[in-house]
Amino acid sequence: MEQRISNLIASLKRRNIDGIYVDSKDEARERIKQLILKSATVGVSGSRTLDELGIVALLEASDYEVFNQYRPGISREQSLQMRNLGSHADYFLTSCNAISEDGELVFFSGYGHRTSGIANSDNVIVVCGLNKIVLNLDQALKRSREHATVLNCKRLDWKSACLADGLCHKDICLAPEYKRMCCQVLVIESEINPERLKVIIVGEELGF
Ligand code: SF4
Repeated sequence: MEQRISNLIASLKRRNIDGIYVDSKDEARERIKQLILKSATVGVSGSRTLDELGIVALLEASDYEVFNQYRPGISREQSLQMRNLGSHADYFLTSCNAISEDGELVFFSGYGHRTSGIANSDNVIVVCGLNKIVLNLDQALKRSREHATVLNCKRLDWKSACLADGLCHKDICLAPEYKRMCCQVLVIESEINPERLKVIIVGEELGF
C-alpha cells in the first residue's frame, strides 16, 4: 500500500477512527457486507459513490433491513419516514465529500439527513475513493463545495446558484431565490466511541 494511504490510516487511528484500505469496488462491497451484522437495520445517504458501488441494492437483496428513501414507487411520506428511521439505524452507510491527509472528514448536506445519520447511528461506514483525498482541511472544504456540490447540483438539477454556470455563489445562494444544497457542513475531527466510525478507502476513483 502506498505511503500516502498508510499515513492517512495512521492519522485516522489517532482520531479513534478505523481506516480500512481495499483495492477495488468488489472488495469494498465484500468488506461492507462483512462489517454489517446480519439482520441489522441500515440507513443510507444519497451518494454517487454508493450508486457506483451498487451496494444498496446488494444489501436490500440480502439479510438486512435497509431504510432506502430512494426505493422506487414509495411516496414522499414513506421516503421521509425512511430518512428518519435511517438516521437512527444500527448502521449508517454513506460517503464523504472529502478527507484530508490528516484524517479530517467533511460532509455537506442539504436537509441534514446525512449529517444526522452520521451523528446518531451506532455504527457508521464511510466509503471514500482516492479522488476525495486532499492535503488539508481547507482543501477538503473547498473540494466539497466547489467540486462535489456543484456536480451534485447539476446531477440532480438542484435549483441552486451554481446550477447555471457551475461556480459557487454562496453569498446569494439563499431562499427563496435559490435552493441551496450545502446548508449543513459536518467536519469530523475525532470519534469518542471506539469502532463506531469506519472509513473504507477504495483504491479507485469513486463518486464526485
Ligand atoms: S452554496 Fe449554493 S452555489 Fe455554492 S456550491 Fe453550495 S449550492 Fe452551489
